[in-house]
Amino acid sequence: MTELKYRRVLLKLSGEALMGDRGFGIDPKVVDRLAGEIVEAHRLGIQVGVVVGGGNIFRGVSVAADGGDRTTGDYLGMLGTVMNALAMRSAIERLGAPAVVLSAIAIPALCETFTQREALRHFAANKVIVFAAGTGNPFFTTDSGAALRAAEMDCDALLKGTQVDGVYTADPKKDPTARRYERLTHQEVLSRNLQVMDAAAIALARDNKIPVVVFSVHEHGAFVNVLKGKGLCTVIDG
Ligand code: UDP
Repeated sequence: MTELKYRRVLLKLSGEALMGDRGFGIDPKVVDRLAGEIVEAHRLGIQVGVVVGGGNIFRGVSVAADGGDRTTGDYLGMLGTVMNALAMRSAIERLGAPAVVLSAIAIPALCETFTQREALRHFAANKVIVFAAGTGNPFFTTDSGAALRAAEMDCDALLKGTQVDGVYTADPKKDPTARRYERLTHQEVLSRNLQVMDAAAIALARDNKIPVVVFSVHEHGAFVNVLKGKGLCTVIDG
């Protein structure tokens, strides 16, 4: 039997990942596939927390760019993450694992409100936790929300699902000579300004000694492979 590398992880999925080939919103087939991988990890005995982004629905910065109110735009973005989280919860439950949405903003008709103590109880009760509404504050991102929840929940790693299978020396879609890094330190990501997550998220992961593993969401089975210490990815640690 393959050894599992991590016991409790925080998976960050961007809103874009849930959109599939559509230009906007949620593709249920993509949500089902990703939920399937989460359920597989849960069956292996891993405690999985998921932070979902909201960029497939709304981004506060685009409101500000159009001369609108950034703070209101950011709350709209956070509401977008709640939509994604509810879709993800339904898919996970349909596939047979117990799941709960904990939102940083109280919306009691739809989901529970995040507190660290409640979240720990849900993990103890063997549920997958979908964290919604990022940090609950404007001017932040769901990457920072993911690093924050990973720290609060004492996760062994933050797994960031992206468009490519790791961090590259250049954009591999544009530059054929681009190489994938096997390992980096948090500090290298910050000092070289590598586009992995925003700097606040990487700094929070560094300060709390949380490894960040970057892998491709498009690669079927990649999430579970990473949990087993296999597959293509970049590990950011140390
Ligand atoms: N957002 C926010 N505070 C947070 C997390 C998210 O204000 O703690 C807002 C922000 O407007 C952001 C949007 O929600 O643009 C969607 O989140 P994000 O851009 O991180 O989603 P992703 O890129 O992962 O899909």
